[in-house]
Amino acid sequence: MAKPVVAIVGRPNVGKSTIFNRIAGDRISIVEDTPGVTRDRIYANSEWMGTQFSLIDTGGIDIGDEPFLKQISEQAEVAIDEADVIVFLVSGRGGVTDADEHVARILYKSNKPVILAVNKVDNPEMRVGIYDFYALGFGDPFPISGSHGIGLGDLLDAVVKAFPESANYEEDKTIRFSLIGRPNVGKSSIVNALLGTDRVIVSDIAGTTRDAVDTPFTTPDGDEFTMVDTAGIRKRGKVYENTERYSVMRAMKAIDNSDVVLFIINAEEGIREQDKKVAGYAHQAGRGIVIVVNKWDTIKKDNHSLHDFEVHVREEFQYLAYAPMIFVSAKTGQRLEKLPELIKKVATNHAKRVQSATLNDVIVDAVAMNPTPTINQRRLRIYYTTQVAIQPPTFVVFVNDPELMHFSYERFLENQIRAHFDFSGTPIRIIERKRK
Ligand code: GDP
Ligand code: GDP
Repeated sequence: MAKPVVAIVGRPNVGKSTIFNRIAGDRISIVEDTPGVTRDRIYANSEWMGTQFSLIDTGGIDIGDEPFLKQISEQAEVAIDEADVIVFLVSGRGGVTDADEHVARILYKSNKPVILAVNKVDNPEMRVGIYDFYALGFGDPFPISGSHGIGLGDLLDAVVKAFPESANYEEDKTIRFSLIGRPNVGKSSIVNALLGTDRVIVSDIAGTTRDAVDTPFTTPDGDEFTMVDTAGIRKRGKVYENTERYSVMRAMKAIDNSDVVLFIINAEEGIREQDKKVAGYAHQAGRGIVIVVNKWDTIKKDNHSLHDFEVHVREEFQYLAYAPMIFVSAKTGQRLEKLPELIKKVATNHAKRVQSATLNDVIVDAVAMNPTPTINQRRLRIYYTTQVAIQPPTFVVFVNDPELMHFSYERFLENQIRAHFDFSGTPIRIIERKRK
């Protein structure tokens, strides 16, 4: 699933966007709007010598009116949090500045590999200028020129070499999923019921049995799955591990490492506040989601009970409208055998890519059916839509003015996309961009 992430960090004007655009090539960089977060992050999917990675341009993080150094700090912090490898960019014109040192101090604290690149070294004569930058303490600087495309190959070689080894991003065909939910909803029971049968073959990985966080297994159909954070589920007992804070933290980490999240609800007890926090995070993280209602055996059933329960859950989790729901019992094993195929379907949709031509037909038809909104007599115009990313599927809509896109219209477009392509189980993201 997750590709390694590379971030370019540095004070303004050193050439971050230039380098970003060079590396991203003609692949469109996108601005990801996270509701409630005023920062924009620009991502691009890239490749070097057959290795895929995502690139973040932290220069795209706009922190509004914050003071200059604070902005730089924020950008560096995001890079440290999100990236596997950080490219620390400085400018070969003018030597080390206070702002460079400020960035360096923040990066010292990270445990991530940092590669120092000196930009604007446009010709060989300028190479002498790079020696000043040894003082920053990040080893040999790479001289590059963003505008002339010099030295980028060597830089990318170093970047790719610094990717964490354990993560075999390329060959990872397995579907990674995790179970989240508050204590006592039945996570361990479901895990044990799933893995404890002859239905699946659990792989033994040498040396990792004791602390295994992940459990790979294969279904009779040959589908490979990896259950994330099973140690966290199985090895329990300490008091703090049952505290809400801990379980939310653990859930967040498991979610980040998964393609698909099984959000477990306890039918017996119904929905609690804590359920909402956990589900909200999974939604925001952009993972595929299956809502699993467990302990279904405890419910006295009539013809309506399943439907009524579903309506109730849908009301409580309206933002998870895309997530399929399944009613199971870890105790009796009811419907558990359906879980792997459901996870697989959601994982497929989560990684789905649609053709731009078909997509644009859908959007054109949508606009014909329901004209775009106007604000102050200015009408939103949609020029072109394209899918720029998967996991989750992310669409960029090129428009005359992003301000004119109303929330409800965006929702309408999402519904139209969903009506034409099967994206069940996965959130999709729509981003408006002004056409230049
Ligand atoms: P950012 O603020 O770090 O994203 O920097 P930009 O990418 O916007 O670049 C700042 C300025 O430096 C722009 O005017 C670029 O054209 C210029 N620039 C970027 N890379 C190079 C380079 O390799 N050589 C020279 N001479 N100028 C560059
Ligand atoms: P976890 O904290 O989410 O891992 O929950 P556990 O798997 O430890 O289960 C909590 C309790 O619920 C245990 O006593 C289980 O036996 C019980 N339990 C789990 N699944 C079911 C189920 O499907 N039906 C019933 N009746 N009890 C269940």
